[in-house]
Amino acid sequence: MSYENVKNELVQAKSMEDVLSLIDRGAPGWVLGFVSGFSPDYQFLADNWNKVCEKNGVSPTQLVIVRTLESNDEEIKKIYDLFAAVLTSSGFLVRRIVDIHICGSCKLALPSQGYYETIVQNKEQGSEFNIPETWSSKCSSC
Ligand SMILES: [Zn+2]
Repeated sequence: MSYENVKNELVQAKSMEDVLSLIDRGAPGWVLGFVSGFSPDYQFLADNWNKVCEKNGVSPTQLVIVRTLESNDEEIKKIYDLFAAVLTSSGFLVRRIVDIHICGSCKLALPSQGYYETIVQNKEQGSEFNIPETWSSKCSSC
């Protein structure tokens, strides 16, 4: 589908189901899965998500795990950006698979090891929040 086609169909979408079906057709294989939320070890990620939702006047729904947010193809990149914006404004949080690790026990989202390290770096620059001392593939309570 071209970006124009996607945009035109999006205007006509009447429900979230319509939008999700359009995403399936407009970016096949882009959405890898849905997760209900973040591990309690990373409350600040949920807090940030809540802030975005508050600004948009919606409630948090689900994390959407996507393959990527980048493309060398400008048309595809525009389609990704459009879908990400629509999902975000509806209470979803779009995250790249490379940034997310799913706890094998409770199935909630943890940062991947790479993303954890990015968080730690940012934290050293003065961000205020609590995170586990080391990265783990499951929650501290699991
Ligand atoms: Zn867990």
